Amino acid sequence: MKEKTGKLSVPFAVQTIGLTKTYKEKSVVKDLNLNVRQGDIYGLIGRNGSGKSTTLKMIGGLVRPSEGEIRLFGKPVGDPLVRRRFGVLIEEPGLYPNMTARQNVVMKAKCIGLADEKSVDGVLEMTGLSDTGKKYVKHFSMGMKQRLGVALALLGNPDLLILDEPINGLDPEGIQELRRLILRLNEEGKTILISSHILGELSKISTNYGIIKDGEMMEQISKEELEERCQDYFEIRVQDVHRALPLVQESFASVRTEVADRQTIRIFGLTDGADVVRVLVENRVPVHASGFHHMDLEEYFLARMEGGRKYV
Ligand code: ATP
Ligand code: MG
Repeated sequence: MKEKTGKLSVPFAVQTIGLTKTYKEKSVVKDLNLNVRQGDIYGLIGRNGSGKSTTLKMIGGLVRPSEGEIRLFGKPVGDPLVRRRFGVLIEEPGLYPNMTARQNVVMKAKCIGLADEKSVDGVLEMTGLSDTGKKYVKHFSMGMKQRLGVALALLGNPDLLILDEPINGLDPEGIQELRRLILRLNEEGKTILISSHILGELSKISTNYGIIKDGEMMEQISKEELEERCQDYFEIRVQDVHRALPLVQESFASVRTEVADRQTIRIFGLTDGADVVRVLVENRVPVHASGFHHMDLEEYFLARMEGGRKYV
């Protein structure tokens, strides 16, 4: 895959190599290579049942892989030095309903051997839960519960946060709050690996995407590459692509062309399509149809998730 050269020197926070999980002879994650660089907000996107949670559970050390390798910060996932560098929120956060936010955080802090009050207050502050006082978690809104889940994952100040569908079930305001929190944590230097089955939830924050379908990685793509692919283009349908293509390329040096099929050429970087049609017709290459198109993000992802070409 093409990568921006500047990023190549950034070390990986997460790297899986041939990661596979098989349940009763059914592979639900297949030979998955996933690469998250430090500082990324990596959005793992796929339909229900595509293997997102299983993948994140394996990365978080909660499920044992059947095959393959996981490296976190360049080290095997079981390495004790690595254990403290990541926090996970997978599926429902395990919250105690008859306790306050603070009591929940204190409980988890004790479990992981963190005794200081400062880190408890710190994560409550960061997730906007400092003022919830004596309110029991059972009376929390969905958004508050999710934020408390993130607070628990933040204990120990991890460098990597693994968040499985944290936006699930939130209202628009809750989504916005959580997005802002994720962006802030990322600005403070944390790497985020987040999953969703809804593109709109990820597209406002992700710097990179992994598209997963039936347990397979269909494509890993950076935000910049995605934007490049989703540019407007002028499409022409001609009888003979082999004659038309050189003519377009010679006459319009600054454009980028792509042959979509035997009769279709896509031209990127054009403002006016009429000139293209004129040049072709003048050179006796009949144009059957032409027009501007826009590929939006949603279309792009749907095409990939529906099993379009595999680009890895
Ligand atoms: P969703 O968007 O619904 O959360 P997902 O992408 O997180 O889906 P997974 O939960 O990873 O998908 O599940 C992938 C597949 O693995 C599903 O077919 C699921 O039924 C199966 N699966 C998950 N856990 C187990 C298990 N413990 N035993 C057997 N099959 C499992
Ligand atoms: Mg899931």
